Amino acid sequence: MILESGNDFAALLSRKVRVCIIGAGAAGISLACELDGCGFEVRLFEAGARANHVGDFYEGSATPPHPEPRQFRRVGFGGTTAVWGGRCVPFDPIDFERREYLANTGWPITYDEVARFYPAAMEYCDAGRFDFLTRTSLPGAEAIIRGFKGDEVVDADHIERYSLPTDFGRRYRRQLQKSANVTVMLGLRCLKLNRASGADMIESAEFIDQGGHLHTVRADTFVLATGGIEVPRLLLASDRAGSGFGNVGDCLGRFYMCHFENTLGRIVPHNSPVAFRFERTDDGVYCRRQMRFTPEAQHAHHLPNMVFRLHFPSYSDAAHGSSVMSAIFLAKSALLPEYRAILQQQTQVPASPRLPHVGNVLRDLPGLARFTAEWLFRIRLASRKLPYTLVANADGSFPLEFNSEQTPDPSNRITLREDLDRHGLPQVHIAWRVGDQDAQAVLRAFLLLRESLGRSGAAQLLLDDELLAGQIARSIPLGHHMGTARMASSPRSGVVDGDCAVFGLPNLYVASSAVFPTCSHANPTLTIVALAIRLAQHLRSRLVS
Ligand SMILES: Cc1cc2nc3c(=O)[nH]c(=O)nc-3n(C[C@H](O)[C@H](O)[C@H](O)COP(=O)(O)OP(=O)(O)OC[C@H]3O[C@@H](n4cnc5c(N)ncnc54)[C@H](O)[C@@H]3O)c2cc1C
Repeated sequence: MILESGNDFAALLSRKVRVCIIGAGAAGISLACELDGCGFEVRLFEAGARANHVGDFYEGSATPPHPEPRQFRRVGFGGTTAVWGGRCVPFDPIDFERREYLANTGWPITYDEVARFYPAAMEYCDAGRFDFLTRTSLPGAEAIIRGFKGDEVVDADHIERYSLPTDFGRRYRRQLQKSANVTVMLGLRCLKLNRASGADMIESAEFIDQGGHLHTVRADTFVLATGGIEVPRLLLASDRAGSGFGNVGDCLGRFYMCHFENTLGRIVPHNSPVAFRFERTDDGVYCRRQMRFTPEAQHAHHLPNMVFRLHFPSYSDAAHGSSVMSAIFLAKSALLPEYRAILQQQTQVPASPRLPHVGNVLRDLPGLARFTAEWLFRIRLASRKLPYTLVANADGSFPLEFNSEQTPDPSNRITLREDLDRHGLPQVHIAWRVGDQDAQAVLRAFLLLRESLGRSGAAQLLLDDELLAGQIARSIPLGHHMGTARMASSPRSGVVDGDCAVFGLPNLYVASSAVFPTCSHANPTLTIVALAIRLAQHLRSRLVS
């Protein structure tokens, strides 16, 4: 059943339930779907309504270049999946290892304990089967650049897969509407968790509805699924007299990680074809090729986990000569603010004036018309959408995009401000920077990739050696919020245990990228969903008796 604020909630809310899930994004919805039919009563609370929007209660501050906290997240049933790009990539075994050369790494659970839930997570994300190798997903395909199959340093046999992209609110609405034991309650925002006096457990949670009425909800078990920034915010704000729930080791809000990215240098292939465009896997899913470092090379060269992709030229530089890219540049106000921000920041060259862009458009109107038709049929109207527009550089070279894991650093953190939002909850401040060690590692990675491509004779990587270090240091964060309630084997070194239960409060769980102790290069949602399915299995075995 799905109920919206405005319905008479009072009778329902007065009844204690077994499980109260707070937040209906990818994590909360997949957890609720997994608990559908489990035999006990589950409530899924969402601050927003059916329609999705940028929440004014996400306002706060951040150290540049980190975007303001209200960007890269949405409020409403489905959460941020209403706007996500749909790139699905699993974590790698190395992400779970304690790597001596990267501080604060290592998970208390193994890769296999997460990997067994990836096939089901792939289904939730509509991303096909759990197979990320080129040779098996694209049988018979050419190498990414003809003549470059990778070597002992560079692995060129991986792909990333793309979701429809699936908006979890739309996709799983019907299942939850029909559920006999799960009730979704929209328009109820959690303001606080209450600890039982004299007991190590959460007794109730305070909610405010859209009419400003307060409600107290009692449950045996609570799950916070409010996203990687709202999880620490609620855990800190619920215990203002103390240091925050689960914060014995002073880890709550700390070790905040974002993937950082930039587009630097150009690959000049000596051979063709080059696998630059989206391809379809043999199970019909859009995918793109990646280049990355083998685990052995990561250990030998002390590299964080990262990937490289062949990229398109900067939209803002009219020298690309493309009518399509100039049209996108001129119409950038039509883009999501987050994509506009990336487009503006991700330029190594200053934006050209508008006139050369208008010239590009006028010179190739038929090309623009072909693109518009493709955009309409393959991007707007198709149920499985072409993820984004890829236009190759006119000179045959390919700018190189990387995105990288960030070393967990306690000084990158979410804290509460004195300023309150309109419901009286303290706003957040985000302190984030790319560490010198990570910037140096990415620099080494570019040089290693250049050597590897050079050895193969298949391509040349052109880099501006003098500028590269500075450019890497100015990389920008992607909108992935991770690590703020990290999983650990002891309360001294984290906030949740291997089952995602908050240390010291065994009836409070976290379903979110907040629990990631390290962040891989992989976009987070697939792993968020895998961990939510794993948590559902744990709750089923704990609560069914
Ligand atoms: C433009 C963009 C592109 C992206 N592309 C990708 C991509 O390609 N691949 C990828 O893996 N990820 C991508 N992401 C990130 C992805 O959207 C998130 O990883 C994912 O949605 C996180 O799921 P979640 O359930 O943890 O949080 P959310 O989806 O943010 O859901 C949290 C929910 O909790 C609700 N909530 C918050 N506080 C409260 C409260 N106090 N009480 C009640 N409810 C509350 C919110 O309203 C929201 O609905 C992208 C994000 C953006 C913005």
